[in-house]
Amino acid sequence: MGKDALTKVYEPREAELRWYQHWLDHDFFRAADRSSKRPFSIVIPPPNVTGMLHMGHALNNVLQDIIVRYKRMQGYNALWMPGMDHAGIATQNVVEQELAKEGLTRHDLGREKFIERVWEWKARYGGVIIHQLKRLGCSCDWSRERFTMDEGLSRAVREVFVRLYNDGLIYQGDYIVNWCPRCRTAISDLEVEYSQREGHLWSIRYPFAGGEGGIVVATTRPETMLGDTAVAVNPNDDRYRELLGKEVILPLVNRRIPVIADDYVTMEFGSGAVKITPASDPNDFAMAERHNLPIVRIMDDNAVINKNGGAYEGQDRYECRRNVIRDLEAGGCLVGTEPYTHNIGQCYRCKTDIEPAVSRQWFVRIAPLAKEAIAAVVTGKTRIVPAVWEATYFEWMNNIRDWCISRQIWWGHRIPVWNCEGCGKVIVSSQDP
Ligand SMILES: [Zn+2]
Ligand SMILES: [Zn+2]
Repeated sequence: MGKDALTKVYEPREAELRWYQHWLDHDFFRAADRSSKRPFSIVIPPPNVTGMLHMGHALNNVLQDIIVRYKRMQGYNALWMPGMDHAGIATQNVVEQELAKEGLTRHDLGREKFIERVWEWKARYGGVIIHQLKRLGCSCDWSRERFTMDEGLSRAVREVFVRLYNDGLIYQGDYIVNWCPRCRTAISDLEVEYSQREGHLWSIRYPFAGGEGGIVVATTRPETMLGDTAVAVNPNDDRYRELLGKEVILPLVNRRIPVIADDYVTMEFGSGAVKITPASDPNDFAMAERHNLPIVRIMDDNAVINKNGGAYEGQDRYECRRNVIRDLEAGGCLVGTEPYTHNIGQCYRCKTDIEPAVSRQWFVRIAPLAKEAIAAVVTGKTRIVPAVWEATYFEWMNNIRDWCISRQIWWGHRIPVWNCEGCGKVIVSSQDP
């Protein structure tokens, strides 16, 4: 066979590597900084630095590639801007697992040393996915590749934070968040994984303050009763009309709490009366805001009962659950136990059960931003393809919650806010003060 003879079968590896290198050598993916051609650009949704290519990436990146190549061939100055996400929680976890093999935690190293370790990890193992995107043939302008912890991007994050803050769109508040007691951080709704689990539904009687009898509530998390601040019924529920405004006594902690009416309560569930624990449940938290109920936190950041839990202080949440059930039973307040299958949220990184918890966090006020996002689609400035998804989009935008942007982790951008120890003044600035 001569040297130009074809191999018997097509060898994609050989052909693809050769052609990809040819494209790179000729700068075919390079967009011009200045050009008389019309501009067209796509910013890649940055894959995680810890990521590995899966079918989802293959699909959405091939679609981007088709569009940008099409525009390039049409004569646009086309740019497909690539980058990688520093993936705060995911990356921190990978490095923490490495440390665990050495018998260390991030707290042993301290913040600075730990962050050095993360950069070392990134240099050695990070960015496999970028190599995989190249093998896929993606026509990104690699000369412009960015990382979300780059200096320029970090400056941009601070600048945007300060602008939003000055526009009144960022605030700090108590809020119910998904809390991972293992990672010791708030995590977003998207980072919670749900799985069905066999549990129990316990019925507990709260005796009336002064007088015979009591009101029965049902719960899958009896330990949270230590933080109850009301019992709620539906305003149209005739069974409870007489009781509105009266008080019941919270067993085990002997605190008086009111019976209130709220539309959120469904008359058909259990007895039609529900316990309200604002610090441990998002719906209860919302109800507490409507009715101005006190919020009693009963757990610390490790999901261990704090001093508000009285005799249960120092107990882990599940240990506390067993003891609460035992004590309610002994006191004659446990009136029913039945098997119950329910969804439990877990941390997507470490699989620990999420504990909804009230904590001090930073938020972006979303309603004013959603209003403009809705207007953009209504006026046709932004088009959703296929159009049938418009309804879903409006549904999301109309029901969107404020966005919790703070995390209690070390690997990531820091909130550019300083509290002066001298005078208590709060400084929000894109430059270190
Ligand atoms: Zn976790
Ligand atoms: Zn000061």
